[in-house]
Amino acid sequence: MSKSARKIIKLSEAEKKDPPTFRGNNGFSTDVHQRLSDKGKEYGIKEIISMPTDQIVLAEWVNLKCRYGCSQFNTNWCCPPATPDLTQSRNIIAEYSIALLLEGEQQCTNFYVNNSKKRAEQVRFWKGPLILERQLFLEGYDKAFSLVSGACALCKKCFYPKKCKFPTERRPTVESLAIDLIGTLKNVGKSTPVALDTKECFNYYAIILLD
Ligand code: SF4
Repeated sequence: MSKSARKIIKLSEAEKKDPPTFRGNNGFSTDVHQRLSDKGKEYGIKEIISMPTDQIVLAEWVNLKCRYGCSQFNTNWCCPPATPDLTQSRNIIAEYSIALLLEGEQQCTNFYVNNSKKRAEQVRFWKGPLILERQLFLEGYDKAFSLVSGACALCKKCFYPKKCKFPTERRPTVESLAIDLIGTLKNVGKSTPVALDTKECFNYYAIILLD
């Protein structure tokens, strides 16, 4: 965990006196949701939706999109084939009961370019889920694990297949676990509009798995 990620987690006096226990069977309370939402706003996360993990849709075809048509395939530690396959993904998700869907918004202007501004945005969007994951750990959710939006951009160019530069901070993308994001959104009654112009904004999503 980087210095910047470490220093943002502060326990209140009340939390220090009465610390949570790991896996205290507390579900996902509105208090935790509120604290997470407040922190998430600092990283552009505008909404957090909790849902049972059986609402997550997994499908073989998702890997096709990674394998054919994405420049990150076989070039990044957070994308296929470095990430779990469909069977492993199903097994992993079955070990969790709650999924938090984190929704943010991004302007399309830099989507089709490869510049430092785009990378700075990617790193900011990546940081949000990771910092919330850490906060959840301190709230007693020891299994909390983030799936991020977009390939890891911590390095200007990923060192894959050579040794990762920040192995404790990398996380797999949502799609790398064969998650059909749009199908999952439909399951929770959400639709996401297609941005047809680069002046428009589009929604992006990350997921945190909890138990
Ligand atoms: S930290 Fe660097 S080497 Fe590791 S996955 Fe991210 S971009 Fe690749």
